[in-house]
Amino acid sequence: MKTCKSGRHQFEGRGCPVCAKEKKAAYYAAHSEKLKAAAIARRVANPGYYRASSTKWRVAYPERLKAAKDRWYAANPERTKATQLSYRERLSAGYIAELLELPVKDVPEELMEAKRVTLKLKRLIKEMKNENAK
Ligand SMILES: [Zn+2]
Repeated sequence: MKTCKSGRHQFEGRGCPVCAKEKKAAYYAAHSEKLKAAAIARRVANPGYYRASSTKWRVAYPERLKAAKDRWYAANPERTKATQLSYRERLSAGYIAELLELPVKDVPEELMEAKRVTLKLKRLIKEMKNENAK
C-alpha cells in the first residue's frame, strides 16, 4: 500500500485512482461549457457517423430504447398527452393499429383505409347527433 501525494488515500499500483477521478471531475467542472460546445461541434461536423451509431444502438438494444422512451413519456406527461391527441385527431397509422390491436406492420393498407373511413363516419354521425340535440 502506498499513500498518495495528498496524504488522504491508500492505493496499490501506479497512481491514486481517487485523486485521478477528482482531478478529472475538477477539469470537467472548470471547462464544462467548452467541452459541451466541442461535443456539439463534433456531432454537427459528423452527422453520418452519429446517425449510424445511434441507428446501430437502436437495433442492438430495442428493450433499452423502449425503457428510455417510457422514462421520457413518464417525465413529460403533458407533451405525451398532446402527441397522443394529435395521433387520434389525424387518425395516424399507429392509432388505428392500436384500435385494431395489431402491430402497424401487420395491418394491410386496405384495412387501414377502411378503418379510417369508418372512424370518420362515426365521428361525423356523432357530430350530427350533437347538432340535432341542440
Ligand atoms: Zn489520492
